[in-house]
Amino acid sequence: MAGFFSYPIELLQGVGAARAKAFQTELGVFTYGDLLQCYPTRYLDRTQFYLVAELDEDLPHVQVRGRLQRKQLAGEGRTQRLTAQLIDEAGGVLELVWFKSLKYITAVLREGVEYVAFGKPTAFQGRFSIAHPELEDPVQRATSEKAGAGALQPIYPLTARLQNLHIDSKTIGRMLAEIVSQMAPHIVETLPADVVANYGLLNRPAALRLIHFPDSAENLQAARLRLKFEELFFLQIKLLRQRTVRRVELAGQIFQKVPSVAEFYHKHLPFDLTGAQKRVVKEIHRDMCTGRQMNRLLQGDVGSGKTIVAFLTMLMAADNGAQACLMAPTEILADQHFWGLKPYADKMGRTIEKLTGSTRAKTRRSLHAGLQAGTVDFLVGTHALLEDTVQFKNLGLTIMDEQHRFGVAQRSKLWQKNPAVLPHVLVMTATPIPRTLAMTVYGDLDVSVIDELPAGRKPIVTVHRFDNQRARIYQFLHEEIAKGRQIYIVYPLIEENEKLDYRSLEEGYAQVTAAFPEARVAMVHGKLDAYDKDAEMQLFVQHKAQILVATTVIEVGVNVPNASVMVIENADRFGLSQLHQLRGRVGRGAEQSYCILLTDYKLSKDARVRLETMVRTTDGFEIADVDMKLRGPGDLMGTQQSGVLDLRIADLARDGQLLAEVRAVAIEILDRDPTLALPEHEPVARQVAAMQRSGQPNWSRIS
Ligand code: ADP
Ligand code: MG
Repeated sequence: MAGFFSYPIELLQGVGAARAKAFQTELGVFTYGDLLQCYPTRYLDRTQFYLVAELDEDLPHVQVRGRLQRKQLAGEGRTQRLTAQLIDEAGGVLELVWFKSLKYITAVLREGVEYVAFGKPTAFQGRFSIAHPELEDPVQRATSEKAGAGALQPIYPLTARLQNLHIDSKTIGRMLAEIVSQMAPHIVETLPADVVANYGLLNRPAALRLIHFPDSAENLQAARLRLKFEELFFLQIKLLRQRTVRRVELAGQIFQKVPSVAEFYHKHLPFDLTGAQKRVVKEIHRDMCTGRQMNRLLQGDVGSGKTIVAFLTMLMAADNGAQACLMAPTEILADQHFWGLKPYADKMGRTIEKLTGSTRAKTRRSLHAGLQAGTVDFLVGTHALLEDTVQFKNLGLTIMDEQHRFGVAQRSKLWQKNPAVLPHVLVMTATPIPRTLAMTVYGDLDVSVIDELPAGRKPIVTVHRFDNQRARIYQFLHEEIAKGRQIYIVYPLIEENEKLDYRSLEEGYAQVTAAFPEARVAMVHGKLDAYDKDAEMQLFVQHKAQILVATTVIEVGVNVPNASVMVIENADRFGLSQLHQLRGRVGRGAEQSYCILLTDYKLSKDARVRLETMVRTTDGFEIADVDMKLRGPGDLMGTQQSGVLDLRIADLARDGQLLAEVRAVAIEILDRDPTLALPEHEPVARQVAAMQRSGQPNWSRIS
């Protein structure tokens, strides 16, 4: 049985060693099974014809029907080519060009005959042409239609090397036809029968046939749905089982008692928690009572109030005799957390200390002793916390802020700080990840979301302005400064363009200093050393400077509630999530805040979408969704390790709804039958085993 789908494609008609090799290196296709899973990227609607007048260069493949004329060979030797014209019914002229196999094509092409040409149109000096078009004459076409080649013709991913070997979508179609005609006795269902029935899914053989040979748009849709369902289902099964394993195996301390959490909440908390904050605190406390290690991701948009949740969690540890640490990605942030939490800790009679790269050796020594003796309850710091010399008496909780800056290795290093019982882990991030992606990327973490901002915040007003409106913008900034507010002005800085970018930053700084004689202007960027950076930053934090000119180093976490305006220069050069993070630096106080996106007139399509999105919404999740649609999930954090990039047919940016349903199905099955031992889950168990054996991430493996 295991035979058929692992047959090498060389066994197919017309596939010799050279072609087989090209399939391997270009498409990763070795076997029958691989080829079946090489799904068409698109389908050409064979019922639709274009007139030459309707062509435009953005079109993918098109079909044009016309009469062939003026066939001629031009050039010599290697530069020789064959051209012909196809005249459509409106008299439009399409140029057809060949550079290869000239002898053969010259012989078969007939002038005066009507052909259907398809291929990718390109324009040169106002004339459209198609190089190496696929051509069909009406007789051929009629025969193939009769033979059941449907109106939807699959287009496969082809590379130049494959094309050089005369492999086109039709060649691949012929290979697949051979496989499909023989596969019936070998193919097995992978989904439980009741799932297939409940969701009205196609069975597996039908789906695999119709994805390559669709006989109608509806059936193609059904085939795609079935294959996406299967792919997402097995990805979720894998992730959910990892989570189950972890839950069973790793113990965590129990932090049931919470007297000081209650005391702090009622006596010292300067505001009411939002509903979302309360819910998350409860979720965390529930984790703390299970006796298993918590691994929770806390997602909350910028300004949603994650820090106070962190502090309440630290109190839970302290109430139960354990220590807690909070780790931030930068010195500035660690500082801010420390000074922000210290008054709270003092009120609760808890000792809090700070440890960063710039902590002096002497301070360090007494700090180390305090941690080991257990006299220090809370430690706030940077990655300096990870050093081996930092040992605790009983570390029960580690919190990581803005986790995307920490690697997996660092996380596990933190775990080792308490070999007896692993500390609970809370990871906080303000990088909004689309829910669908979070479910998958963090399929093995529990996710809490603060999806509500504290009451009374005024939504930030965001506008897009062009460079030539600078005078009016400066006028506005003068007014804000006169009101006692502070202003960020941010410049892009990317490595590839570093020299130029630094120059425009310096020029910007000079310009701003000259334009705002009433203000003190601070500047931070990556080239300053930690000390200078901190000094400049402190000028702004302490309101000694009214304007901060900066690169994106201020992006993460900085909290200056009095800052009310964020000006972003060359805003088109920033990614959406970066823009959102930057904007999150304002709107933290009671005042009305503004974000001004400055650009040139010339903007790419994508840049325009980014700017429009920023102006339209402040919802981090909506922004993340748009971002993912623009960039694809591959560029977002965390996706590299998650397996989502190995999806072959499902698309997380588009199939979010389906993913949610599929995940629910997978959870239901595993809840009822964690080891997949029930007879009705036999197909699933078999497929999971096959996936494990192959060791490759392939969620719809055919074997
Ligand atoms: P982030 O989630 O971006 O880390 P912070 O924890 O820094 O947000 O909180 C942003 C600001 O909102 C802080 O000044 C904090 O004191 C304040 N804050 C947090 N929760 C509330 C609340 N429930 N009501 C009012 N203000 C709050
Ligand atoms: Mg924060």
